[in-house]
Amino acid sequence: MAKITLPDGTVLEVGDGTTAGQLAQQIGPGLAKAAVAARIDGKLVDLSTPLNGEISIEIVTGKDDEGLEVMRHSCAHVMAEAICSIWPETKLVYGPTVEDGFYYDVDLDEPIRPDDFERIEQKMAEIVKAGKPFVRKEMSKAEAIEKLAGDKYKTDNVSHADSDTISFYSQGDGFEDLCRGPHVPGTDKVGSFKIMSVAGAYWHGDPTQKMLQRVYGTTWPGKKDLDAHLQRLEEAKKRDHRVLGKQLDLFSFSDAGPGFAFVHPKGMIIWNSIVDFWRSVHDKYEYEEIRTPIILNEELWHKSGHWDNYKENMYFTNFDDTDYAIKPMNCPGGCLVYKTRQHSYREFPLRVAELGLVHRHEASGVMHGLFRVRQFTQDDAHIFCTPEQIEAEIIGVIELTFEIYGAFGFEDFHIELSTRPDKHIGSDEIWDTATNALEDALKHKNIDYKINEGDGAFYGPKIDFHIRDCLKRSWQLGTIQLDFSMPERFGLVYTDSDNTDKTPVMIHRAVLGSFERFIGILIEHYGANFPLWLSPEQVRVMPISEKSNDYAKAVYARLKEGQLRCSCDFSNEKINAKIAKAHGERLPYMLVVGPREADSGMVNVRIRGLKENKTVEIDSFLEMARSKIVDKEINLQF
Ligand SMILES: [Zn+2]
Ligand SMILES: [Zn+2]
Repeated sequence: MAKITLPDGTVLEVGDGTTAGQLAQQIGPGLAKAAVAARIDGKLVDLSTPLNGEISIEIVTGKDDEGLEVMRHSCAHVMAEAICSIWPETKLVYGPTVEDGFYYDVDLDEPIRPDDFERIEQKMAEIVKAGKPFVRKEMSKAEAIEKLAGDKYKTDNVSHADSDTISFYSQGDGFEDLCRGPHVPGTDKVGSFKIMSVAGAYWHGDPTQKMLQRVYGTTWPGKKDLDAHLQRLEEAKKRDHRVLGKQLDLFSFSDAGPGFAFVHPKGMIIWNSIVDFWRSVHDKYEYEEIRTPIILNEELWHKSGHWDNYKENMYFTNFDDTDYAIKPMNCPGGCLVYKTRQHSYREFPLRVAELGLVHRHEASGVMHGLFRVRQFTQDDAHIFCTPEQIEAEIIGVIELTFEIYGAFGFEDFHIELSTRPDKHIGSDEIWDTATNALEDALKHKNIDYKINEGDGAFYGPKIDFHIRDCLKRSWQLGTIQLDFSMPERFGLVYTDSDNTDKTPVMIHRAVLGSFERFIGILIEHYGANFPLWLSPEQVRVMPISEKSNDYAKAVYARLKEGQLRCSCDFSNEKINAKIAKAHGERLPYMLVVGPREADSGMVNVRIRGLKENKTVEIDSFLEMARSKIVDKEINLQF
């Protein structure tokens, strides 16, 4: 008998060799139908896996992120079979999952065109309809290499596998592919799919190799989910911040400085509103603020380790026969400020923020509006503390971060912990201590996180914050990086309680990351319909005709006095044209005033995106607007 613990703590006994799929059936036919894989003692496996001994098990469905990934990956196999059946000379290379879908790299001389997508999809639908089981077969590495003789791509994949047991999956009779798995039980469980695009890709990203074709697809648990995804993509196109930024006159780029954003007056209002808010939150969490130079002696960058690890991304200059570098990070400047005076353990933790302008060279091909630029303002801070204070400080940063994201309406986030990369400075011991401190803080806050092995910064492990925008796209924003190396390199010290000099721990952290990029994300998240507190222009007064101009001026003066960002439209346009224009400019509130409003001291309020309008007294409008600004309310209705 196998003794099985379910996620809710229930313990079941089943006959040895019962599969995970059979167990799901035993629990309920609904679960069995939705099941795509199982997690046994935390490891994701096929539903055909037999259950033995004392284990914990969870049945995974397409609603589970990992379950969805299994569906997507399985769908890649179905697509591969379809492509191979249409073009039998196809050589399969590699087919992983990506955000929202999957791709398969194929070596095929005949180009696959968008016109072919339907044909591939039809073939896939046939394979799905046949409901062929995915069957796993295992063998040793040597046997696999023998079996794959002559297939340079798959042989290469096998040679890169870290396990000595190699598995193949066949779907039904014919088609078989080398794969680690796991897979859904049958081809009828791959969900609702669509081929999205095709692009060129070099084998191993190596331009000396043959150009392969990378076919992208997406799949979702149901047709509804797929349709919603396709609609989000359409919506994302409409919300492209490069288009909206130009249309609303927020920022621009010039050939005079590729990758350097020019922020226009309206863009600066958004920028400064964020800065004001950012400062108030940092004040609450007891940070100080500094500003350090953007050009500093090259020697400093040798000392910091940037020269050895980051030189390719840096800009350099020379004057007075001395070499200088333009800062790609603010840390060395922060260290120099720290060193200007003595420090005692009594003043720790010392939290020092800087809205630092940094320059990082990006290849011209990867730049993308405000998302990828060469110059940006980082909302940086360095915390100097004792090793005992690390955990509490990390917790503080996590709380501050959530408070800031919450104000913009980002409530859906996930966290990743990145560990030691191959290229790094500092001892293994130091890395372990730092990594443990980060994990302890996350556990203390009861936060789920994912571990990215080897993805840390060269000077320490890190926690990254990822948010999801309203189109369910994930963005990495904030980061917390522990650093035991730089303080030593810069000879930073503090006097401890026992009167000896010690090296402080340095925590680097950013919440929004790059201001430029964050504003780009906000534009797309809101579709440029900014909440009131961020709107460049908050209210516009519109007299119905010239006769009401004086009253409009009086209303405008009241709004201005109430510190609202406002204007008056005195043009000769008809009122409907004025309203349409203001809607186009994404004005949150439009105040229409005519003789009736003038007589009663009222304003007729139109709200962005809503049909109905409301007539209220100026003072009550003003009070309502002020409180929405203070509370950073996203909803404009009142
Ligand atoms: Zn596979
Ligand atoms: Zn730093």
